[in-house]
Amino acid sequence: MKKPAFLLLLTAIICLTANGQRKIINLPDLPGYVTMKCDFHMHTVFSDGNVWPSYRLSEALRDGLDAFAITDHIEYTPKKAYVPVDLNAGWKIIESLAKENNIIAVHAAEITRDMPPGHLNALFIQDASLLAVDSVYNAIEAAVKQGGFILWNHPGWKSQEPDGIPKIYDLHKKLLKNGWINGIEFFNDSEFYPLVLEWCKQYNLAVMGNSDVHGIISESYPEPEYTHRPMTLVFAKERTSAGLKEALFAGRTLVWFGNTLGGREEYAKPFFYRSISVGKPYFDNLRNIYFEVTNKTDIPFYLVNGPAGAPASITLNANAITRIVLSKKVTAPLVYDVKNIMTGDSAVLKAELKF
Ligand code: ZN
Repeated sequence: MKKPAFLLLLTAIICLTANGQRKIINLPDLPGYVTMKCDFHMHTVFSDGNVWPSYRLSEALRDGLDAFAITDHIEYTPKKAYVPVDLNAGWKIIESLAKENNIIAVHAAEITRDMPPGHLNALFIQDASLLAVDSVYNAIEAAVKQGGFILWNHPGWKSQEPDGIPKIYDLHKKLLKNGWINGIEFFNDSEFYPLVLEWCKQYNLAVMGNSDVHGIISESYPEPEYTHRPMTLVFAKERTSAGLKEALFAGRTLVWFGNTLGGREEYAKPFFYRSISVGKPYFDNLRNIYFEVTNKTDIPFYLVNGPAGAPASITLNANAITRIVLSKKVTAPLVYDVKNIMTGDSAVLKAELKF
């Protein structure tokens, strides 16, 4: 007997959800906070992306994300001859599916304008269609009135800033003064903008890292070259939508892509110290002492510029224990620059190995 079409569809949906598996990403929580792995920038067929919204959810689950936002362009819908224009379509399609899959979906849209102000994602909105107005100032205001978090995307994107260097224009100053820019992308796909780290300190904003994916994640970040997409690590009081929103407005984030972490020192430092543990010396002889450093995370740490007489550089590989042999002549504290944790335009985290 032929099954009715709706039954076939139901079977397909059940199979899809029953097989959903979430990858484990090994990263530490911070004291008092849970670390949420997030991507707040991606497109679907409802603007210029190539996939259906529920596929974004499957990808996010597979990648081990806790939260994600579909951010289809408001002003750019090139598939409208084939796909109806509905600025809230992504949200409508994933809202209940996300709940069933224990992943947090954020209702969002991308305000897409010339520079200034460029492209801005409005996160945690209620109705994207209210952002479809002529004046960009009014569009941002409409998002803010809905409780929106405004994220300035790829500020140094070469299509808008040919030299690749982000700049704060008068309009940005006005928006910042109003509190209408709440975060800036440091990572957009594989591009990154070190200046953003300085601005986020100066204006107390969240440092963000997102994929801005239009195609398929596994093709954009293929293994083994990539182990993960660019992501924003959010330190939330609880793993809920409200917890996520509170943490973002408070600016408690770091970004992670490749082997680079970026963000403010106040989060980077405890993150590093929660990632590693330094064991007591397990052996010594006349010349040296021997100890181990365990790195329980998926991120290797590259320590350089060690004190005189100590190893000049130490690599703490991901999910590995590193043996260190230290001359007994070394009395200085073992302070290193952690080369792959950026805390400013030209600054990296300084950290000490203490046993
Ligand atoms: Zn975008």
